Amino acid sequence: MNYQNYILPHIWNLKPYSSARDEFKGSEGVFLDANENPIGSGNNGNNWNRYPDPMQLAIKAKLAIIKACSTDQIFLGNGSDEAIDLVMRMTCDSQKHNIIICPPTYGMYEVSASINNVAIQRVNLTNDYQLDVNGILAAINENTRLIFICSPNNPTGNKLARKDIYTILNQYHTGFVIIDEAYIDFSDETSFIQELKQFPQLIVLQTLSKAYGLASLRLGMAYANQELVKLLNKIKPPYNIGGATQEIVLEALNNTAFVKQSIDLIQVEKNKLVDEFSKIPQVIRVHPTQANFLLVNFEKAQALFDYLIDEKVITRNRSNVSLCENSIRVTVGLPNENALLIEKIKSFYL
Ligand SMILES: *Cc1c(COP(=O)(O)O)cnc(C)c1O
Repeated sequence: MNYQNYILPHIWNLKPYSSARDEFKGSEGVFLDANENPIGSGNNGNNWNRYPDPMQLAIKAKLAIIKACSTDQIFLGNGSDEAIDLVMRMTCDSQKHNIIICPPTYGMYEVSASINNVAIQRVNLTNDYQLDVNGILAAINENTRLIFICSPNNPTGNKLARKDIYTILNQYHTGFVIIDEAYIDFSDETSFIQELKQFPQLIVLQTLSKAYGLASLRLGMAYANQELVKLLNKIKPPYNIGGATQEIVLEALNNTAFVKQSIDLIQVEKNKLVDEFSKIPQVIRVHPTQANFLLVNFEKAQALFDYLIDEKVITRNRSNVSLCENSIRVTVGLPNENALLIEKIKSFYL
C-alpha cells in the first residue's frame, strides 16, 4: 500500500511543529529552552512545571511488551476520541471523501465525521448484530477512506465475526480499516494488533478507559503501521498527553493484577445479571455480550429508563436507536449496585 495515495497531500507534506523537548532529549541539564516556570507548581506534591515527553516513550515501552508489538506501532491519544479525529483529519477531504460506519455502533465515529464535515455512509448491522459484509463491499467507492468496525460492538456488546472482518481487510485496500477494540479485554477474542504486518491499511484502537480503570486520565491507543504512526505524531498537538497522566499510567500499567481482578469480577457480576434478567418476565431479550455491559430488550423500556433515573439508577437508553428498539444498555457495576438495579426494575414492573 502506497500511503501517499490515501493521506491528504497537505498532511503528507506538513512540516511538524518542533517543540523544545523534541530538540533536546536528555533529562540532565539547565533547562532554559521552553519558557517554563523554574520554581515549580502551586500544588502540594509533585511539580508539574516542566513540559512532558511529547512522544510518551516510557509508556510506549511498557505497552509494547504488554501488547507484543513495537513502540513505533503505537500512537497515544487524549482518549481514543483524539485518535479517531486525527485519523479522520489525516485521510478525509470534506469535499470529496466518505467513511463507512455500521450502526448501531459507537457514536463518536459519526460525530467526528460531522465535525470534520465528512460524508457518512451507514451500512447497518444485520438483525443479529453482525456485519453486513456484502452491504459494506457494495458501499465502498473510490472516495471511501475509512471503514469503522467496533468489536466487541458498543452498544450491542457482541463481537463481530472475525471471518467477516478478514473479508473486508482482504477486499478493501484503498483506504483504512479501523477496528475499535475498546472492550477487547473483556472478550475471548484476540486482538488484531498481531495482524498489522499482514494488513497495512489496518488501524486498531484500544483504550485505558474501560478494563484498566483510567477513564478520567484520557488515554487511548492507536496501533498501526509505523509510517501511519509517524503521520499521526506529526499532526497531534505536541503535548497531547499530560505529564500527570503519563506518570499515573506508567504506574498503573505495572498493576496487571488489578486489571485481571476487575475483569474477573465483572464477568461474575455479568453472569449474575444475565441470570436475574432471565427471571424477569418483562425482559424480552438479553443480548449476548463480550463486553462489560449488557443490552437488554425490555417491555416499556422508555418508562423503565425514566423510572430508574427517578430512583437515581442511571442507565443508557438506546430505545431510539435503530435496531435497539426498547433496549437499555447497562454497565456491569459493583455487586450492590447491580442488586439495586435488579430490585428497582422488579419494583417498576410490580
Ligand atoms: C468507551 C469507548 C471508547 C473509549 O474512548 P476513550 O476516548 O478512550 O475514553 C472507544 N470506543 C468505544 C466503542 C467505546 O465504547
